[in-house]
Amino acid sequence: MQLSDSFGRKFYYLRLSITDVCNFKCEYCLPDGYKHTQKNCFISLDEIRRTVTAFAAVGTQKVRITGGEPALRKDLTQIIEAIAAIPQIKKIAMTTNGYNLAKKAQEWYDAGLNQINISVDSLNANSFNKITGVNRFDDVMRGIDKALEVGFDKIKINSVLIKNFNDHELGLFLNFIKERPVEMRFIELMECGDTNSFYKQHHYSGEHIKKHLEANDWQLNKNAKDAGPAQVYSHKDYQGQLGLIMPYSQDFCATCNRLRVSSLGKMHLCLFGDFGIDIRDLLQRDDQCQQLISRLHGAVATKDVSHYLHQGNTGQTPHLASIGG
Ligand code: SAM
Repeated sequence: MQLSDSFGRKFYYLRLSITDVCNFKCEYCLPDGYKHTQKNCFISLDEIRRTVTAFAAVGTQKVRITGGEPALRKDLTQIIEAIAAIPQIKKIAMTTNGYNLAKKAQEWYDAGLNQINISVDSLNANSFNKITGVNRFDDVMRGIDKALEVGFDKIKINSVLIKNFNDHELGLFLNFIKERPVEMRFIELMECGDTNSFYKQHHYSGEHIKKHLEANDWQLNKNAKDAGPAQVYSHKDYQGQLGLIMPYSQDFCATCNRLRVSSLGKMHLCLFGDFGIDIRDLLQRDDQCQQLISRLHGAVATKDVSHYLHQGNTGQTPHLASIGG
């Protein structure tokens, strides 16, 4: 039976965090870098396989691998292969900062990765290095070129909108997608527990970009049922597309189709929920699958109608690397 909640939303899409470690120090996420607060007891390859098998049995068709930085896991290629071997899973996507993409893109593609999202908050090398705290701009650009060459079904570039950092770069990004078949997505900065002062200073609304697109012949596309939360626009003169993720907009949660499992084996009904539901005890043997499915149904039935970010309630999320953005 398909996973659905008491508001009639159906869940086709699982975001699976496989580590919360990250090697970047993004100003809005981990400005002081990753701090080891617990022993590395991230879900194992077998636990991941059991998680996705249970979700697939109740309707999940798309899995996004995320983190932290998922590419830091040494068994990432095996993780992709294990998920690709589950028949109901039609798409495997991954979100990465792209630090080793040029080296690994072909291997991940061959393992079964269909889509890749690369985070690029600025197309200006100096600003990129300033925002991320690392000098990796050229590596990431080489990674994007390689991903284009490898032939993923979809390549998306994520850019968090940050006032006084990249709010003047729309022209650069439009130029970037003119001849490249990638989906550029601007994400509004979200308030998290650890970085709320940064949010207050730097939040920049996607409405500015939306107005620009609508005034310049960009057309809003229709979303697939397993699509992410972006409103995506196309233009006849551009090979690429442009998406906006505006979590503060009205009705953002009405089309929610995704659930999350953290790298510690907790299911999260919302990025900004108050607690995670532990499922790790049911990931230890293959014969626990039915019990796990019952727990998933019970949990999803309690999903709230919306996050309460508007009221400044960020739940227990200190930063997005902790659950997987
Ligand atoms: N390390 C990978 C990466 O850099 O893409 C995956 C994890 S990262 C948490 C996933 C995405 O969340 C990135 O695109 C990042 O820019 C975004 N993100 C992190 N914190 C955010 C915040 N406070 N508001 C909006 N987006 C955020």
